[in-house]
Formats: sequence, C-alpha cells, structure tokens
Amino acid sequence: MSKIMDGRKVAQDTEKEIIRKTKELKERTGIVPGLASILIGNDPASEIYVRNKRTACGRCGMHSEEYNLPEETTENELLSLINQLNINKSIHGILVQLPLPLHIDPTKAIRKVSPVKDVDGFHPENTGKLLQGEPGLVSCTPYGIEKLLDYYNIEIYGKHVVVVGRSNIVGKPAAAVMLNRDATVTIAHLETENLRPITTAADILIVAIGDPQFIKKEMVKDGAVIVDVGINRNETGKIVGDVDFEDVKEKASYLTPVPGGVGPMTITMLLWNTLKAAEIFAGDKYP
Ligand code: NAP
Repeated sequence: MSKIMDGRKVAQDTEKEIIRKTKELKERTGIVPGLASILIGNDPASEIYVRNKRTACGRCGMHSEEYNLPEETTENELLSLINQLNINKSIHGILVQLPLPLHIDPTKAIRKVSPVKDVDGFHPENTGKLLQGEPGLVSCTPYGIEKLLDYYNIEIYGKHVVVVGRSNIVGKPAAAVMLNRDATVTIAHLETENLRPITTAADILIVAIGDPQFIKKEMVKDGAVIVDVGINRNETGKIVGDVDFEDVKEKASYLTPVPGGVGPMTITMLLWNTLKAAEIFAGDKYP
C-alpha cells in the first residue's frame, strides 16, 4: 500500500515559510510582494483559479490586483496592460491566466511579461535558464512537484524519472527540473511507441497528459513513486487524475492523490515565485 503525498499539507507548511519570509522582507525593506492577475473572458475554471490566488495572496500578507477584462479585449489592449504592469513598482509578479480567447496569441502575451516578473516561469528567458541549470523563475507545477518529492525525502539523484507529457507548462519543465537534480530522464508523449516498457522502467513516474485514469498498474514498476499532475472529470463528473489511483495504490511506494496532490502545490509555488521576484526587486541575491 503506497504512502500518500499530501499536497495540501505540504502546501500549508510551505505557505508558513512564505508568510514568515514575506513579513521579514517587509520589515527589512518596506516592500510588500505584489501579484497582478489578468483574466480575460468568463471561463468558470479560470475564475476559480484567480479567486484562489487572490485568497492565497491575502493569507500570505501579499498585495494582489486583479484585471478581469471582457472577452472582446484586443491583443494590443492586453499587451499594453502587461507593459504598464511591467513598470509598476508595487507589482512583482504578473500572471496571465490561460487559456486566452482565440484571437489573442498566448506566445505574444507570455513574451511581453518582463522575465523578472514572470512568476509562471513561462517566458523563454526563464525556460532557457532552467534548461541551462541557471537560477530563474521556475514554472509552478514542476517546482511544486520537486518540493513535494523533497518534503517526503524521495531521492531524485541518479533515479530514472519518466515524464509522460511534453507540454511547455508541465512536461518539459518537469523533465528539466529532474535533470537538474541529476536524475536520468525519459520524456514520453502521444507519438511514443510502446509506452508500457518505458513507464514500467520508471523509479519516479510523473504523468501530465490530461487523460482520465490512463495509467494502470501494469504500467508501473513495483515500488515506483507516482506523481499525478492530471486534473480531469470522469464520466460521472468526478475529478480524477491521469493515474488510476485505486488500481496502482498497492504497487506504488508513494502516490499523489487528485485532488489534493500536485494542484495545491502549484498555487503555493506561484506565491513562492512572487516572493522571490520581490526579494530580487529588493536587491537580494537568488537563493
Ligand atoms: P497538454 O498541453 O494537453 O499536453 C498533454 C501532453 O500529454 C502532450 O505532450 C501529449 O502528447 C501527451 N499525451 C496526451 N495523451 C497521452 C497518452 N495517452 N500517452 C502519452 N502521452 C500523452 O496538457 P498539460 O497542460 O500539460 O496538462 C496535462 C494535465 O495536467 C491536464 O489534466 C491538466 O488539467 C493538468 N494540469 C494540472 C496542473 C496542476 O496544478 N495539478 C497544472 C497544469 C496542468 P503530444 O505532445 O504528442 O500531443
């Protein structure tokens, strides 16, 4: 029976550290970390994410601003708002909530955010730094996965990590984070032939594909650590991951639940990055 990696608990503990460091930064420099969230249109899931981020900012003593813009907002209007926030001294992190309406190119929006305020870690300057093993702002979900594994003292060094999924926001940066920790990394995706021998070779299996309960027990090695990034609704409307939790739970050594695993860590690492961006603004060195 696997041990559960409790993302809510780890997120709460990490939040305590963020609260302490935010207070310390304010007392030392007068700077209050500030996060601006831009939401275009009325996607209900995005509205919930932005609301959760605002509440979390409040709990951590951070300043937050929300820009809820109508669906018909033009690309130029968005880019000019990002420009204003780039030079706003009370804002240290800018988050452009994805997905954007189809008439706006997300790549342009991501690139417009100043790399020092790019708390999502999506700007090519930050993803490039991550690949080169240099300090920078690391994408929140992979960063949260690393924190979660460290919390449970799971060794990454020298292990075979298989990442299923190669998106720019999860799969690729997760692979880079693991490589920087001296893991041997394999990335699999939809075009991968014969997936099963690859996933069963994993000491640590990270799954981010968006396919409900796709990973079954035949696809995992005995004692593997399984990190399930997926957030999906099954046919009954229940939130499930990309891993069949009940099926693999006897085989895995550690396992993240959905909900309550990687999800809570993502939002916490967004606050962590906002704090880090504010510390750098204050002239602190990268930790
Ligand atoms: P995405 O952009 O749709 O990418 C999915 C990736 O998975 C693609 O690389 C795709 O391969 C690959 N893939 C899909 N089905 C596969 C299969 N059956 N076998 C092997 N590879 C497969 O998705 P994403 O944005 O990375 O998100 C993935 C999941 O994580 C979603 O459920 C999303 O809701 C969730 N998510 C959760 C969090 C969190 O905080 N917990 C954060 C972000 C995302 P190709 O490249 O070949 O198409």
